[in-house]
Amino acid sequence: MALIALEKIRHTYQERPRSDADYALKEVTHQFADGGAYALLGPSGCGKTTLLNIISGLIQASEGRVLFDRHDVSAASTQERNIAQVFQFPVVYDTMTVYDNLAFPLRNRAVSEPEVARKVRETLELIGLSEMAGTRARGLTADQKQKISLGRGLVRADVNAILFDEPLTVIDPHMKWVLRSQLKQLHRRYGFTMLYVTHDQTEALTFAEKVVVMYDGEIVQIGTPAELFERPRHTFVGYFIGSPGMNLLPVELAGDEAWIGSTHVKLPGMPSQTLTGALELGIRPEFVRLGREGIAVDIAKVEDVGRRKIIRANLEGREIALIVGEDEEIPAEPHIRFAPEGINLYADSWRVDLGSQS
Ligand code: ADP
Ligand code: MG
Repeated sequence: MALIALEKIRHTYQERPRSDADYALKEVTHQFADGGAYALLGPSGCGKTTLLNIISGLIQASEGRVLFDRHDVSAASTQERNIAQVFQFPVVYDTMTVYDNLAFPLRNRAVSEPEVARKVRETLELIGLSEMAGTRARGLTADQKQKISLGRGLVRADVNAILFDEPLTVIDPHMKWVLRSQLKQLHRRYGFTMLYVTHDQTEALTFAEKVVVMYDGEIVQIGTPAELFERPRHTFVGYFIGSPGMNLLPVELAGDEAWIGSTHVKLPGMPSQTLTGALELGIRPEFVRLGREGIAVDIAKVEDVGRRKIIRANLEGREIALIVGEDEEIPAEPHIRFAPEGINLYADSWRVDLGSQS
């Protein structure tokens, strides 16, 4: 296992990049701790696969350095980097048996046959394919083939890190959950450095200790699931994480008052910096309270989602979502209030420190 450091990594697929917009990765500097379990979360096209491939050596970054345990490996081959990578779609040898598919990476590294047998059996158990050890891969379902790919990534104990690129896309939902829990256990048991790419927040939040959120070629926030929920640094993190995501309302500031059209909300503190760009007040639906006092709203829609209700209200022509308990009554003249601890201010999409707040 290794500490993986990325230093000012930039990458473009274009021959003559003219501006930042031509870069799939704009500038990434980050360290993945030895033995850490990270999720890389972001929408399709934000640069997740590009970043993984730069770490494994499948592609070389246009600029910047990759270091493993402080050694520069920027020019090293994938072999030399000694990384296991599991891709979104299965990569298996169709003519080989399930057993031999898993044994392949070990035999390649001249591991002794008894050790191969031990590791392959153990991994087959983990991915639930023990019964199929002798079956050729060709006839298997996509689901089973992907489990083989996963097994091939997990079978080696000597790798510097294991990279998973949306590995459960083709797996059915129940099995997804099972495999994800197993990956987590495996991490606890062996302490592999694991990077797990996904565009699914539930997957990211349940898998990782640290979630790295990417947006448009950049890392916008790194944090625990709680940090991402409570203090999104960027509006993207606010609305991408959470269900529904954070409400973002354009505001104008007057001292510590944020004006939303003709109504205003008191901020929990004063901005400690000069603000530029568009200002938005961010509040998660969990922090919008419903009652008979506060700001008058119209209710457009009520959705029952298990033990809670999502209410879509209308505040001076803007939609605002709030979450209330399943038994909570909706007043005839509904009003809302914002819990002060849930109020965030964003300038040009980045969170503003409000002095008194953490
Ligand atoms: P993600 O994995 O987050 O969906 P990618 O890293 O695959 O994102 O892609 C990031 C950006 O780089 C996208 O705009 C994508 O179109 C572009 N891109 C990815 N691979 C290539 C490639 N081989 N050639 C040209 N552009 C690419
Ligand atoms: Mg991808």
